[in-house]
Amino acid sequence: MISVFSNDALENLGKAVKTFLEEEIYPIEHKLLHMDWLEAELLLGEKRDLARQTGAWNLYLPKELGGPGLSLPEVAQIGEILGTTPYGHYLFNCQAPDAGNMELLMAYAEGDLREQFFTPLTEGKIRSCFAMTEPGNAGSNPLLMTTTAEKEGDHFVLNGHKWFTTGADGAAFAIVMCLTDPDNPNPYQRASMILVPADNPGFQIIRNIPVMGHSGAGWMSHSEVRLEKVRVPQSHLLGEAGRGFQIAQERLGPGRIHHCMRWIGIAERCFDLMCRRAVSRKISPDKSLGNKQMVQQWIAESRAQIDSVRYMVMHTAWQMEHHGQKSAREAISAIKFLASDMLLKVIDHSIQTHGALGLTDDSLLSFYYRQERAARIYDGSDETHKASLARRILKQYGLQ
Ligand SMILES: Cc1cc2nc3c(=O)[nH]c(=O)nc-3n(C[C@H](O)[C@H](O)[C@H](O)COP(=O)(O)OP(=O)(O)OC[C@H]3O[C@@H](n4cnc5c(N)ncnc54)[C@H](O)[C@@H]3O)c2cc1C
Repeated sequence: MISVFSNDALENLGKAVKTFLEEEIYPIEHKLLHMDWLEAELLLGEKRDLARQTGAWNLYLPKELGGPGLSLPEVAQIGEILGTTPYGHYLFNCQAPDAGNMELLMAYAEGDLREQFFTPLTEGKIRSCFAMTEPGNAGSNPLLMTTTAEKEGDHFVLNGHKWFTTGADGAAFAIVMCLTDPDNPNPYQRASMILVPADNPGFQIIRNIPVMGHSGAGWMSHSEVRLEKVRVPQSHLLGEAGRGFQIAQERLGPGRIHHCMRWIGIAERCFDLMCRRAVSRKISPDKSLGNKQMVQQWIAESRAQIDSVRYMVMHTAWQMEHHGQKSAREAISAIKFLASDMLLKVIDHSIQTHGALGLTDDSLLSFYYRQERAARIYDGSDETHKASLARRILKQYGLQ
């Protein structure tokens, strides 16, 4: 792995996190992946106590709110290390969707709401979820959303149908995107974000959706959720009414850096497994797979692809940190599809190098192959990012 640490303190933090993961987590990953969630959560809880001691707990938060207070490029570098194991971000309480929700609550939750939901979330005592996508409407165009929140006295009443609500199973609350002003002539001002406690009787988890043969549970679930006459006080509105899409946009840039660096960490792990296998697997008494040029090609190409994506993501993080998210819009779209494409190619090369072993659940690779295919779909699909990037470029050439 290429070390890009920009200062000594960060390098020390990176080393502490890496050592913790290598010593405490890599050896039990296989066991964790095959446990049911409640059992895994207990074991992970013990490990979380150790993770806190490294200083990277709540990786994305400022110091005064219990995080290490890192800049975006610094967060990115530690995020890559966490990505090398499926549990890295969870162990440091900066897993999606909780980390994004923490950022929302940090900015918009006040008074009781802050105490009841933000504080325990930062302490790792509760989990949360974010419900925007709907089965009946194309997620690629969230303006099509139909979930509504109508005012009734000093409450909102929500009705709607969501799915792929990651982590809803066992979450204490959901942040729900819904229409509060469906007739507003500006479609971007129709939606709002509203916090819904999961114990509200109208908040019903219908099922954990089976994804590629695995239903998932707890933090690893993707649930189908119905909202039926969900009454919540108007104080549960996050930010101003009608600003849901704008708030989502604000979250988008840093969120993308987090995802891309996690994917780079996964790619590094799969790359490491590929190299080890290439050397250890004999294909004749004196030759290993690594002696074969086709395998060498996968290794050389993977190395170059991972490193080039990292440079681009790090540069985007730097640009956002120093010149603001707006200045990096094109790069933010580009890194999303470049990084997900690179990730899937590296996982695939690593599986191919492992042969049948790579397909078994004995190997981390099959988990990553299943789990990370989604990288090209969530957080804005590759196609929508490509279309948006091309439109921005062609606009400068006069395209109407
Ligand atoms: C693992 C996973 C976790 C998720 N977690 C959450 C979550 O926590 N909360 C939440 O709200 N949602 C979540 N989602 C949903 C995700 O945001 C949506 O799946 C995504 O926005 C795409 O919407 P869709 O699935 O409805 O696809 P559709 O919008 O129906 O699109 C179908 C296909 O058409 C393609 N397409 C769209 N526009 C174009 C175009 N202009 N040109 C060419 N092709 C195009 C898309 O790329 C896509 O491949 C998750 C999804 C997955 C897979």
